[in-house]
Amino acid sequence: MNRTPIEFVFNFVDIEGRNISERLHGRFNGRILDLGIGQVGIESILHAISHDSSLVIFVDDPEDDFSGAMLKCDTPHTVSRLKRWIDNSRSSHCVEVYLESLDESKTISRRFDAVCRCCHSTILLAGIPETPEIYCPYCVTTSILAHEGSAILEEDRYRICDECGCFARIQTMSLFFFNTLFFLFWSSSWQKACCRVCMRKTAWLELFANILGFIGIPVALANLFDCYFGADKNIGFRDLDKANHAFKTGRYAIAANLYRDILSFVKVSSGIKYNYGMACERMGESRLSAKAWQSSIQDCGNYAPAYEKLRDIYCRSGDTASLAKLDKVFVWSYWQACPLKAKEILDGASFEP
Ligand SMILES: [Zn+2]
Ligand SMILES: [Zn+2]
Repeated sequence: MNRTPIEFVFNFVDIEGRNISERLHGRFNGRILDLGIGQVGIESILHAISHDSSLVIFVDDPEDDFSGAMLKCDTPHTVSRLKRWIDNSRSSHCVEVYLESLDESKTISRRFDAVCRCCHSTILLAGIPETPEIYCPYCVTTSILAHEGSAILEEDRYRICDECGCFARIQTMSLFFFNTLFFLFWSSSWQKACCRVCMRKTAWLELFANILGFIGIPVALANLFDCYFGADKNIGFRDLDKANHAFKTGRYAIAANLYRDILSFVKVSSGIKYNYGMACERMGESRLSAKAWQSSIQDCGNYAPAYEKLRDIYCRSGDTASLAKLDKVFVWSYWQACPLKAKEILDGASFEP
């Protein structure tokens, strides 16, 4: 498919967000990222992380392991388009390279990739057993594969919350601040994405910040109402916010019971089983938490959040046999999506395709 190249204006910024370059013109055509002062091929890009209007790119560096650069673009929209296209191109390139490394006899025997329904990146499934769900390491969502289980509405909204670490419905909320003082009027707005439980504190702050100005109060009240009473379109997940709130406030036994109740409705859900494992871990039930994360991986063969937790348990308990078995399953999908983290976690271990 021919796509029009993305052209964008940006500055290089340092870790504190301060400009360290003049305004530059960039361009990405799906194969080459032109950053004004030099070009990077898609095969050299190791990882891309976005946040608001910033994009961090890690590039393979022959002299060092890697080098990174942070760009600040004009709008978050430009960054999300750019990140998505980089992920789409990089992911399909990684799968091509992997397939080229295999014998022809192996490539026809089974399917090695799948396309994420949410971000359209190509997910490498090498070594991963066939399971009802699939995890996209690029947009970090989980999808139920066709013909399996009942469809989840708005499944691209469910993922791990960056603030509390729970699998939850992620809400992107526009927050407004309008104020007047004597004859002065000023306003500002920004967007925040996290689960509704984590959003509550910000929504209260938004309401208090708007009290002097009055104009913003209806918006603030609407946001606050949504944080507490927003309905989940998926009937099985209706108590998910309640369970996550119990987890966040340290009532782990209540949270575990609520997660179990959800699982009596929703039989297949790596995310809920992941949360249940975390509640058990906080209660000191490491055997139960390991079982929950194993079950999470049985629902979703490449579910990286459960893999990381389980790996940690095996490392701590010295169970090297289980650890080696787990790493063998995960190594290629992990390597594809986040080679830097894979290097750190696997500490240079090598696995043949
Ligand atoms: Zn995706
Ligand atoms: Zn949260």
